[in-house]
Amino acid sequence: MSKEYSAFKQAQQEFDKVADMMQLDKSYRSVLREPSRSLLVNVPVRMDDGSIKTFAGYRCQHNTACGPAKGGIRYSEDVSLDEVKALAMWMTWKCSLAGIPFGGGKGGVYVDVKKLSEGELERLSRRYFAEIQVIVGPDKDIPAPDMNTDSRIMAWFMDTYSMNIGKTALGVVTGKPISLGGSLGRDSATGRGVEISTINLLGKQGIDPKNADVVIQGFGNVGAWAAKLLYDDGCKIIGLSDVYGAVYNPDGLNPYDAIERAMKPEDSVSNLLPGKKITNNELLALECDVLAPCALQNQLTAKNAKSVKAKIIVEGANGPTTPEADKHFVEKGILVAPDFLANAGGVIVSYFEWIQGLAFLFWTEREVNNKLSALMNQNIDKVYVLAEERNISMRDAAYIFAIQRVADATRLRGIYP
Ligand code: GLU
Repeated sequence: MSKEYSAFKQAQQEFDKVADMMQLDKSYRSVLREPSRSLLVNVPVRMDDGSIKTFAGYRCQHNTACGPAKGGIRYSEDVSLDEVKALAMWMTWKCSLAGIPFGGGKGGVYVDVKKLSEGELERLSRRYFAEIQVIVGPDKDIPAPDMNTDSRIMAWFMDTYSMNIGKTALGVVTGKPISLGGSLGRDSATGRGVEISTINLLGKQGIDPKNADVVIQGFGNVGAWAAKLLYDDGCKIIGLSDVYGAVYNPDGLNPYDAIERAMKPEDSVSNLLPGKKITNNELLALECDVLAPCALQNQLTAKNAKSVKAKIIVEGANGPTTPEADKHFVEKGILVAPDFLANAGGVIVSYFEWIQGLAFLFWTEREVNNKLSALMNQNIDKVYVLAEERNISMRDAAYIFAIQRVADATRLRGIYP
């Protein structure tokens, strides 16, 4: 990632632009454009060879006006305080727009998971969670999976917290295994949300999914599920990529033949699927109906935005489009479903999991998927309508809804003391 890029500055720029449009009261802006709490922790881990290594960890809570903080924990060498602050802020808007009773949080550890054994990963996870335990809890801040973290890690988090408080706390994290109070449908939820957004917007543009060419960047949990579900809908997946490479096939790729989150080059979509190997930039520039960036932030930038030929962009990742690139897409008439709308499926089903855990009452997968679909479509429709009415981008319209709710909550609660 380039040195000068700051995800948090990007998040603030997006906020400032819409706050101006909304003529938001100046005194609330300073409250909403900074995180309310950031915790930095040093995580010592005993490695398999007996040595001790330390890792930098973070948990940031951007805003809790609408409810406890909510948001994932990622393990990556891109993790920094700047990044978690941005991601926590985006979580505030995501939860607000979705209409669920949470504020925004995010956490992470600076680590390359590929270099850890299973035992090291477990010890790192448990110690990190013990360190952030001072600010998390079922009614305070509820973490969840994010990049390179999964249900197995959530089980260790939940167990660590529960051991420390002397009772099992199902509500402390979401994205848990089903046997530990996880929700059916949570694993696929973010990718399913990307699929629901794609099908909804294809419909609005009068494109039959069966005639749609789709390109997906990233084959982790989000990209892989989105690819498989859109493939099931009859879309033609013409381009796919992961950390090791990208592949293009105009006749269509079958994502079921690939391996989710490849850990070695041989398992890359570019090696397993038949087609032409291309670069990441060539992938983003493919002629297609839908481009879904489902990998990292800062992928569509001033440098490559002009080469994008998609009609619709559905942001599965958080922050994949820089404000400069976004401006170009708006001018060019490309319809962009912003991240905090299109990838909200994960946190929406996390909300369902949290409710189920607190109530000790569990729903069927069909119930979960139906509720997710209803809420996602309702949110996409309201954002699309406002964007049309005011002749603004879907991102700006989504921000207006999201910021308004948090600003109202902040004003109504008042500033303590
Ligand atoms: N990490 C996911 C996100 O960025 C899910 C967060 C959650 O479920 O709390 O939306």
